[in-house]
Amino acid sequence: MKNQPLSGNAMPRFGGIASMMRLPVVDSPVGLDAAFIGVPLDIGTSHRPGTRFGPRQIRAESALIRPYNMATGAAPFDTLQVADLGDVPINTYSLEKSLSIITNFYQTVLQAGCIPLTLGGDHTIALPISRAVAAKHGPVALVHVDAHADVNPDMFGERIAHGTPFRRAVEENLLDCHKVFQIGLRGSGYAADDFDWPRQQGFTLVPAHEVWYQSLVPLMARVRDTIGNTPCYLSFDIDGIDPAYAGGTGTPEIGGLSVPQALEIIRGCCKLNMVGADLVEVSPPYDASGNTALLGANLLFEMLCVLPGVLKR
Ligand code: MN
Ligand code: MN
Repeated sequence: MKNQPLSGNAMPRFGGIASMMRLPVVDSPVGLDAAFIGVPLDIGTSHRPGTRFGPRQIRAESALIRPYNMATGAAPFDTLQVADLGDVPINTYSLEKSLSIITNFYQTVLQAGCIPLTLGGDHTIALPISRAVAAKHGPVALVHVDAHADVNPDMFGERIAHGTPFRRAVEENLLDCHKVFQIGLRGSGYAADDFDWPRQQGFTLVPAHEVWYQSLVPLMARVRDTIGNTPCYLSFDIDGIDPAYAGGTGTPEIGGLSVPQALEIIRGCCKLNMVGADLVEVSPPYDASGNTALLGANLLFEMLCVLPGVLKR
C-alpha cells in the first residue's frame, strides 16, 4: 500500500501534524514518484512580503483535502508514492546562496526520479528550480500562470528577483521558448512594449482580458498540441487569479482569472509530460480569510492529479 493522506476518521482534520495533505513527512526522495516541497522564501519580493510563511499556511489549509478527485476521477495515491519532503533550508539573509541551495536540493530530488510539486515562496524560486529541471530534462516547455510576465531585465539593479526568473531562464537556455505559454497577464505597465520581449522569444501570451468570461478548455487543447510530449513544467503564481479569490499575495492585480479557469488550466495539463510544478506567491499575512492558501493547497492537489501515471492518457 502506498502512502495515503491521514484519514479524517483516523485523526480529526484539525488535529495531527500539518504536513501537506496529511501525508508522511520524509527526508529522502528515494522511492518517491512525487513529493511536495516547501520553499519558504520571500527575499526576492518587490512589494508586500510574507511568502516565507506560504508553505506552512498551505499545509495547514490542505488538511481538508481528501484523496479522490470527484471531477476528474483521479486517485493519485493509488498509483504514485507521494510524501511531504519538508522545506528547503534557504539562507534568508542571502538570495544568491538560497538559489544554489534550492538548485542542489532539487537536483537530488530529480535524480531520484521524484517529481517535485513546490509550495512557494516568491516567484524567484522558479529560476533555481528550472536550473535543476533543465539539468535533467534539457530545455522544457512551460505553462506559466501569472498576472505578470516576470521577464524584467532587472529590478532595482538586481538580476535575481521575483520579477526576473523567466528572463534569466531564457538567457540560460532552460526553456523551449516556442513551447512557453503565459496565461493571465494584466495590470498596469511601464511602457506599451512591456510584453514585446517575451513574444520576441517565441512565447505565447494570453492576457487575462482576452479570456474573460471564457472557458479555457479550448486554449489548453492548443497548449497540448503545441507542447506535445516535450517535458513540461507548470509555474503557477497565485496572483494570476483575481484578488477577489486570492488577495493574499504580494502584488495583486484586478481583473484576473477565475477559480474555474485555474482548474481548467491545470486539468488541461493532464496529457502533457509533466516534470514538475509550483504554486507560488501565497502571502499569509495578507490572507486574512485563509482563502488564498486554501486555493493554493487545492491547486497543488490538482497538479498532483495530472502527473503522468495518474489518469489514463
Ligand atoms: Mn510571478
Ligand atoms: Mn505575479
